[in-house]
Amino acid sequence: MDGNAPEPQYWEKMRLVAEVLKAVEGPIYIATHVDPDGDAIGSSLGLYRALKALGKDARWVAEPPRFLRFLPKEEEYSDPVEKLPPGATLVALDSAEPSRVVGVPVEGFVINIDHHGTNPRFGHLHVVDPSKAATAQMVKDLIDLLGVEWTAEIATPVLTGILTDTGNFRFANTTPEVLRVAAELLGYGVKLAELTDRLQFRPPSYFRLMGQVLSTVAFHFGGLLVTAHLPEEARREEEDSDDFVGLIRYVEGSVVSVFLRKREEGVKVSIRSRGGVSAQNIALKLGGGGHVPAAGATLKGLDLDQAYEKVLEAVREELTRAGYL
Ligand code: AMP
Ligand code: MN
Ligand code: MN
Repeated sequence: MDGNAPEPQYWEKMRLVAEVLKAVEGPIYIATHVDPDGDAIGSSLGLYRALKALGKDARWVAEPPRFLRFLPKEEEYSDPVEKLPPGATLVALDSAEPSRVVGVPVEGFVINIDHHGTNPRFGHLHVVDPSKAATAQMVKDLIDLLGVEWTAEIATPVLTGILTDTGNFRFANTTPEVLRVAAELLGYGVKLAELTDRLQFRPPSYFRLMGQVLSTVAFHFGGLLVTAHLPEEARREEEDSDDFVGLIRYVEGSVVSVFLRKREEGVKVSIRSRGGVSAQNIALKLGGGGHVPAAGATLKGLDLDQAYEKVLEAVREELTRAGYL
């Protein structure tokens, strides 16, 4: 089966998830992927608030990155836990692999809600629909099915996930349905301009770092591939290096962009593509995963030079497959 195909039983499955969550009396843990992005934080905070509104014993285990910390109140997210209590339910959101779930062990009754085609469909219940723009879009449907009354507090994180995963409605995943859902969420009192401003705010050091990153820009395969990396000496500020790949992907003539950053465990690569080239194929060759136009991988145990070599090889293969070379 094509992992990127839409989930044919989307509504049946989501309805079952809603019924299960409504019936649960024990603790419901909500967790998301490592290096959480706007969709990870937005979908999980939105579901957390909806379950709290239902009177559930919900716990959201997360560490929001600096640029998203304005969304939750501090008491809403909790520290990592080593063990879930007996009878616990775990909802994993936006997590392409069980190993990407951070802060909790993947145990208890596991519900997996995600939109990554490479998701192995783990969990006791899973709703994985790669045709959805964001996991937050799926959480929007789930909250409707739960029958929770919409408020600006619930709609704001949910819209955040949709905004960030669609690049503020610029990417190909911006369907008419996405815009209808966004319009509905705005109607619940989300302050859009304030929200999009806050999502773009970065500390002054980030803009200096951007200069350093841009000085590493390089072009390969006649400009089809553009790369950049986080200079080693700038590593401690990487927390705010979330969207450099989104910046370099606009080099005219490029169809793939890759941003590399060295970490303790290896080199994390972020890949974006267009024009019939699959970032997902490239990521899979590197042991990672993701969506067709946006994917990633962590090259364990490698230094930057070795990672560049592997990336160039994987991109060469994909450019060849897509007929560019
Ligand atoms: P990033 O470059 O980190 O923004 O990731 C782009 C997309 O690929 C996101 O949807 C990630 O969740 C996904 N992704 C990144 N790294 C991995 C990985 N190692 N395995 C599976 N999916 C990943
Ligand atoms: Mn994500
Ligand atoms: Mn997502």
